[in-house]
Amino acid sequence: MSVSQIAREIKESPTLVMNEKARLLREKGEKVIHLGAGEPKSKVPIDAVLSAAAKLTTGDIRYTPTEGIPVLLKAIVRYTEEFYNKIVGPENIIVSNGAKHSLYNLMLSIINPQDEVVILAPYWVSYPEIVKMVYGVPVIVTPEDGRFQPRMNDIDEKVGSYTRAIIVNSPNNPSGVMYSAEFIGELVEYCEKKGIYLIMDDIYHKLVYDGRSAASVYKYSREETDSSHIIVLNGVSKLYAMTGFRIGWTIAARKIIEAMINVQAQNASCTSVVLQAAAAGALTGVQSGVESLRLTLQNNRDVMLNELHAFNDIKTVKPDGTFYCLPDFRAYSNDSVALSKFLLEKALVVTVPGVEFGMEGHLRLSFCGSVKEIMEGVARIKWALDPESPNEIYIGDRKLRRDWK
Ligand code: PMP
Repeated sequence: MSVSQIAREIKESPTLVMNEKARLLREKGEKVIHLGAGEPKSKVPIDAVLSAAAKLTTGDIRYTPTEGIPVLLKAIVRYTEEFYNKIVGPENIIVSNGAKHSLYNLMLSIINPQDEVVILAPYWVSYPEIVKMVYGVPVIVTPEDGRFQPRMNDIDEKVGSYTRAIIVNSPNNPSGVMYSAEFIGELVEYCEKKGIYLIMDDIYHKLVYDGRSAASVYKYSREETDSSHIIVLNGVSKLYAMTGFRIGWTIAARKIIEAMINVQAQNASCTSVVLQAAAAGALTGVQSGVESLRLTLQNNRDVMLNELHAFNDIKTVKPDGTFYCLPDFRAYSNDSVALSKFLLEKALVVTVPGVEFGMEGHLRLSFCGSVKEIMEGVARIKWALDPESPNEIYIGDRKLRRDWK
């Protein structure tokens, strides 16, 4: 049986593969610790639940306008004004089935075959795959500073006549690092001068620690909204722990939104009205859950860093935001896929191989679980890798012995 060339080229999602392996092990009763997850564990805001329930109980559940229901568009207009100090109209917004769907529809709307899209490593695994799905060419820029901070010179070297867009995610999945306001400012100026789209994936922009805040991309822009090269992606998945609701959005010039509406009308019609109601509830309701999630994650980050510092040979750049870090494990292995498999088999800990994010020799560890999981997870990794650590460990009531080098 044959499948398309695109289908053959698209990589299997590594996170989903590891999740499946972990699920199978758990089914067998194994005490697996998941440091691979990409979703906060806190409860969905009550205002989201009530708003969705109210919609459901009307029994009137139909298609919505392709771009989204007015109450949600209005909530996004307000959010944009509050966070970015930027006034956009509902005509500058389209709601899709998660920010991932937003990005896919955006790519379908702005990329021609062979157009190049610059992606800054380490990058979210889906960026290059989505670019390939629209017959574009991902061009990766890898920072050499060991701190995951890209430089304008390196970007400029990769930009050419085929470059249509640059995707930026700050704070960043998988490194947790946030780019400086100065860098964002330079990038805005650069893209506007060159006529390249700057796609800001701001899905983690409120999950930032140590009293810092993410730069507002619009602050540096000189262009009017409807001729702007700036495109912002966001959604409720991370901020409100609403990954299962599948609501994301795009903010862009009206012409781009119109193209995306045509694309989305054909590939989804619209997103579910119940879930849009939930997202509107989250955005307009009590916001205290966001701050408490942020504080929990900041504490988790500190615990994770503390535990990782117990490893002599592991280098970890301190995450400024998100719920991930990307320690350098090259002292133990240069093959992150093999290392990740080894840790799952021997220590029953799920990690995600750095090679999937364009950073071989690293592992992405997530700190959105409980403090206990973080401490035990890292302790198990240390036991499995560090010959200096005691060679016996308890997993549940089972005593394991390290009998490898
Ligand atoms: N961008 C980044 C950087 C992400 O990490 C994710 C989720 N893993 C998304 C976008 C997509 O989020 P969603 O589709 O759930 O809105």
